[in-house]
Amino acid sequence: MPRRADKIVVDPRLCKGCHICISVCPHGVLQASDKMDNRGFHIPVVVDLEACRACRLCELECPDFAISVHTG
Ligand code: SF4
Ligand code: SF4
Repeated sequence: MPRRADKIVVDPRLCKGCHICISVCPHGVLQASDKMDNRGFHIPVVVDLEACRACRLCELECPDFAISVHTG
């Protein structure tokens, strides 16, 4: 069984919408939100949790410790 994530959480107070996490994800799990937040940022949203392999690259590369990958 491949590794899976139960949940991926982006902290909207820490995220600055740089989209590094989206770029580094090898499985297209994340995408920029269509909606702009109140600071003008399109924060990442999870579009395909099933595709996540819990590699944690997004977590490691986020400069602001804003994204966390939760496994069971
Ligand atoms: S890398 Fe971090 S700060 Fe940048 S968009 Fe992703 S969660 Fe937000
Ligand atoms: S843990 Fe890996 S596969 Fe899952 S969203 Fe982050 S970079 Fe993508």
